[in-house]
Amino acid sequence: MTETTQSATENYDMACEHGEFHTDVSVIRLGGQPGQMPNRYLAEVRVRCAQCDKPFRFRGLPMGLGLDGAAVSGDGQEVRLAIAPVDEVIEPCDVRGFTVKGPDDEC
Ligand SMILES: [Zn+2]
Repeated sequence: MTETTQSATENYDMACEHGEFHTDVSVIRLGGQPGQMPNRYLAEVRVRCAQCDKPFRFRGLPMGLGLDGAAVSGDGQEVRLAIAPVDEVIEPCDVRGFTVKGPDDEC
């Protein structure tokens, strides 16, 4: 996927009231051998203002990749949500995610 992102210093419409939004959602399949079902699915979601194109950041989530939860990218603009088909029995996965904690985060 190729995407152009604007940095925080670029000139967005500062008067924009951010009243309409554009969302991008991608679903990623993880694990599994060729011809087999994947072990996990992740939904990657981005949100930006449809009027001024300013990207939004997700708040309150750990940075990284969580295979059984939610985490955000380093810039906070992409949330990665663990998902599964509604009828799937969720088994432990051999691959584990990771999180990054800052020096002020409690353990
Ligand atoms: Zn806007």
